[in-house]
Amino acid sequence: MTETDHTTPIVVSDPDGSRDNEVRPFQIEGMNVRGRAIRLGTVVDQILRAHDYPDPVARILGELLTLTGMLGSIMKFNGIVTVQTKSSGAVPMMVADYERRDDGVGRLRGYADIDAAKLSTYGKNPSFKGLIGSKSGYLALTIDQGSDMERYQGIVDLTGDSVADVARNYFMNSEQTPTELRLTCAKNEVTGHWRAGGIMVQHLARGEEGQERLLDAQTQEHWDRASVLMHSVKIDELLDPQLDLDSLLYRLYNEDGVRVFDPARLVHACRCSRERLQNVLGQFEKAELEDMVKDGIIDVNCQFCNQTYEFVLADVAENPS
Ligand SMILES: [Zn+2]
Repeated sequence: MTETDHTTPIVVSDPDGSRDNEVRPFQIEGMNVRGRAIRLGTVVDQILRAHDYPDPVARILGELLTLTGMLGSIMKFNGIVTVQTKSSGAVPMMVADYERRDDGVGRLRGYADIDAAKLSTYGKNPSFKGLIGSKSGYLALTIDQGSDMERYQGIVDLTGDSVADVARNYFMNSEQTPTELRLTCAKNEVTGHWRAGGIMVQHLARGEEGQERLLDAQTQEHWDRASVLMHSVKIDELLDPQLDLDSLLYRLYNEDGVRVFDPARLVHACRCSRERLQNVLGQFEKAELEDMVKDGIIDVNCQFCNQTYEFVLADVAENPS
């Protein structure tokens, strides 16, 4: 299938001067510590509100989207980063993906599957383990650079008490990079709008590539300091629309000096299209398609953005079997 531009971006209407929906890379002066901070406003709100998720589910999906935004923005080439969880919990599957194209903008989308019967057994405030059921669950990170390039996939168990815990384990196990991060997603109870934010710091190896990591006393002290300061951030600070990411980073690291790099802009955009779904339907047998027809119409719903496309049998069953 040829890859053409079928994306229907959803218009983001942020207030003038808004610094939401961006990832800010940074580096702490004199330390081998780099990081990223992210703030999501309308982007996460649109993705979560396209579905009628119970709040606890929306919250962890929002955290997964926040993680995906940070990880996707590390990509220096065009491609797609997908972060997916599979588990035996009340949320059997969650997925978020980030697509980067020539304009460098990150296109985010995501959705969660819910086992409603299971979810109802966990009460109003289900735990992370209840939602994601860590026993046999895993999180998979896939980086796909397009048809000719190799796909990379890393996998980690869903152990821990939050999406951030799982991500920390991922970086330690798959990339041997000490990483500390915070992710948060919350709903404004007055407006009903969702916001999300996050920050991560990573301890870089000082040795030559392929050599042993040098963790002498001084670099260990730096790393401890950088992570303690990162963890001192308050949830309100991660979400505050009045506090831009530069000011937040300055607040945390001004004593050491923090250098920020160009931000990556984020938008909510789904890659579904009528043509794409028509191709999918075209792979079914005519009898199967006939079973899907209701009142003369086949309704196909995009799981990501919840848009419904309508087809008639003649659109998709050109070759009678
Ligand atoms: Zn869609």
